[in-house]
Amino acid sequence: MSDAVLVLNAGSSSLKYQLVEPDSGDRIATGIVERIGSDDASASHEQGGATHETHGAVADHKAALHTALDLFAEAGTDLRSTRLLAVGHRVVHGGRRFSQPVVLDDDAVAAIDELSSLAPLHNPVNLAGVRAMRDIFPEVPQVAVFDTAFFHDLPAHAATYAIDDEIAQRYDIRRYGFHGTSHEYVSGAAADFLDRPADQLNLIVLHLGNGASASAVRGGRAVDTTMGLTPLEGLVMGTRSGDLDPAIVAYLERVADMDVDAVDTMLNKEAGLKGLCGDNDFRTITARIDDGDERARLAYDVYIHRLRRYIGAYMVDLGRVDAIVFTAGVGENASNVRADALTGLEGFGIAVDPEANTVRSRQARRISPDDAAVAVLVVPTDEELAIARKSAELVRAG
Ligand code: AMP
Repeated sequence: MSDAVLVLNAGSSSLKYQLVEPDSGDRIATGIVERIGSDDASASHEQGGATHETHGAVADHKAALHTALDLFAEAGTDLRSTRLLAVGHRVVHGGRRFSQPVVLDDDAVAAIDELSSLAPLHNPVNLAGVRAMRDIFPEVPQVAVFDTAFFHDLPAHAATYAIDDEIAQRYDIRRYGFHGTSHEYVSGAAADFLDRPADQLNLIVLHLGNGASASAVRGGRAVDTTMGLTPLEGLVMGTRSGDLDPAIVAYLERVADMDVDAVDTMLNKEAGLKGLCGDNDFRTITARIDDGDERARLAYDVYIHRLRRYIGAYMVDLGRVDAIVFTAGVGENASNVRADALTGLEGFGIAVDPEANTVRSRQARRISPDDAAVAVLVVPTDEELAIARKSAELVRAG
């Protein structure tokens, strides 16, 4: 095995991991441990064309890592005796401090811990993975790659909320943006596909997964994005509302006897497509629409309306758009979303070729007519490869 990076993405009750060769991009193994903290946790590990599974109690993230190491061993790789180049951790919130990946020493871990008030659902569990790996592999460099980093240098007019400046400064309230590793990776891959230098391209990137965000990228640098202080702002998502009148929060507290945590949970976990129609998977929603289901239809229409609003905003922001890029689970697979998001924009040089749009592929591809002024692309994202490459680059730089 040449140099390999173990990439970890620790969520509240799950741990996803991949063993990646950053230079070739080859995946040696991928796996997930789910329902961490329960007696009926399960783990699934794919390596060399075979799947290895296990079920049972997994108490915490450290136990989940031991489960993963056992599955690696079962598949024939003893990670404890393998020379890993690095462990790359996806860390959601880098706050004002982190604009680049960082090697995790005690100081960096403490700084990420301090940012937990901004990302209470994410940073503590990301750190649980970091701490467990530092214990298990004390000699392997641990690298944090931040979801916010690509948006660290947003122009002030895009990053600033129109609230009391002193309060904003005191409590670090600004628009941070998330999914940055994906937006950056996809921007680079789009430039490669178009065979043009990234610093000469203006792009609108639409990362549409269960979480969803859009960004405007000018010459390789993000100039605006839809997510804000937290990943709640912006587009309609699987279970998150995206934008709403902030007065709704206070109104619900007054009239619906909901406290702030109940409203927060509702907006993050029970809103979006799920709140609108009970489902958050586009395959189910599309099937329901085909069956004439009106709630699913409205959910879809609200989703598309919000998406088009931001596409319009970013066209104005950028002035000239070279490409609109769809990525992530919905963006890569839902041809109806791609077509409906861009319908009626021929006057702006934007069109989707119906035949090209229905092609299914894991490769980057163009779905606009060849003569359209704006290229419309589908570019599969690969956050794990991006994290592996950034981690390798940092460690090799010494
Ligand atoms: P992600 O968060 O990027 O993994 O995206 C997950 C979401 O992608 C799911 O909730 C689905 O809504 C959507 N998705 C995945 N596969 C398909 C598909 N074949 N057609 C439509 N939507 C899909």
